[in-house]
Amino acid sequence: MITSINPYTSEKVFEIREFNDDEIQKALDKADEQYKSWKETSFAERAALMKSLGDELRKNVENYAAVITLEMGKPISESAAEIEKCAKLCDYYAENAEKHLADKEIETEAYRSYVKYEPIGVVLAIMPWNYPFWQVFRFAVPGLMAGNTAVLKHASNVMNSAQNIEDIFKKSGFPQGCFTNLPVSSAVVEKIIKNPIVKAVTLTGSEKAGRSVAAAAGSEIKKTVLELGGSNALIVFADCNMNETVKSCVLSRFQNAGQSCIAGKRLLVEAGIVNEFTAAFIEQVKQLKQGDPMDKQTSIATMARVDLAEELEGQLKKSVEMGAKILLGGKRENASFEPTVLDNVTPDMPLFQEETFGPVIGITTFDTDQQAVDLANESSFGLGLSLYTEDLDRAYKLIPKFDDGAVFVNEIVKSDQRLPFGGTKNSGYGRELSVDGIQEFVNKKTVYIK
Ligand code: NDP
Repeated sequence: MITSINPYTSEKVFEIREFNDDEIQKALDKADEQYKSWKETSFAERAALMKSLGDELRKNVENYAAVITLEMGKPISESAAEIEKCAKLCDYYAENAEKHLADKEIETEAYRSYVKYEPIGVVLAIMPWNYPFWQVFRFAVPGLMAGNTAVLKHASNVMNSAQNIEDIFKKSGFPQGCFTNLPVSSAVVEKIIKNPIVKAVTLTGSEKAGRSVAAAAGSEIKKTVLELGGSNALIVFADCNMNETVKSCVLSRFQNAGQSCIAGKRLLVEAGIVNEFTAAFIEQVKQLKQGDPMDKQTSIATMARVDLAEELEGQLKKSVEMGAKILLGGKRENASFEPTVLDNVTPDMPLFQEETFGPVIGITTFDTDQQAVDLANESSFGLGLSLYTEDLDRAYKLIPKFDDGAVFVNEIVKSDQRLPFGGTKNSGYGRELSVDGIQEFVNKKTVYIK
């Protein structure tokens, strides 16, 4: 059995029997068979179903939000926002997929030459628990609009979300086999990747999982998109709008109890304002309302699993031993972690070097723009970063100096269906969302007519 435990109450909320080899094969066969007819459907037909998918989510926001919160502990208001975001994504691709995949004419000496974007078949997604609906929709919606079919291996602690998502696709009228949940553990993923029916793989998760999934897919010459961890910098310059910057940095780090790949995880603050900024930041963090995730007023509840909270505690302890100073918080009880702020954080510490996936942030100071750039780039990750400055000329000069997949100015790094999303370095490769996302898992067929 695969079991979901409510991390706030420690109660079992769901369990499902793991598929055996035979059931996995049957599910893959069905997805493959469905692909043959699904790829022949028109964009209009797919778009109509996608619209009903969005409607179904909107009609039942509260139900689906509760599924998320009871399973992984995020505040119910954030779970509801996640469902709404998925619905918006359905609308976006219903309206834009055909345009994004329209033949691209390229002038040559031919009578006509162009690129045609065709589906490739069954795509496997291995997804994490931190945004249990959004991560899945983010791959499935563009994938299905492109004419592929989708199979999901969701994180073992959010199988109720996975099962609900499969049901939502069915309820919205998608034919059986378009979207299939495979209740399996990660132990069998390599075998699934190597199954000839699976044509490509997308993973959102840890660097470790990324290496193993990419290796298995690479051995079969199957394409992967990897959206792995991040250790985004929040770079605060002396000329920032202090109030807005503090609010933005708190949101970036503490939403979803800090369990987001694109959360700001390293606060780099210009030395001249560090005292003023730190005092205001701590004041704002203290305002976060801790409590029951099912309470609409709660803004920070629990982490998703005890082992994840323990890992974070280890990173914190080691950094403190190396000289970091706790200014606020620092305590853990089961999966709950106090919002924690430290200063004196240096680049050799785990809080700087590693991904910290929870409500802990350390402050590091800099004196010059070049130091800020060097510190930001001194990470093995490259998902994104935020710059806070009122001087846009300075921002434009700095933007090309960063290695990351995204730079947001005076805003948290966030995903938006209209913009490509993805990283560099150990944060992975490939892009999701926007036109780039829907073009990842297609055959870009060159056509040349003399
Ligand atoms: P994992 O990367 O282990 O889990 C993500 C998904 O990958 C799950 O579906 C998991 O399945 C699967 N998986 C894990 N290992 C393998 C493997 N070897 N082969 C195939 N699939 C695999 O994340 P954790 O839940 O353990 O979290 C650990 C850390 O990962 C976090 O602290 C954070 O740093 C990072 N992370 C980053 C995320 C992001 O958004 N970029 C999201 C989640 C985690 P199963 O659950 O069955 O093991």
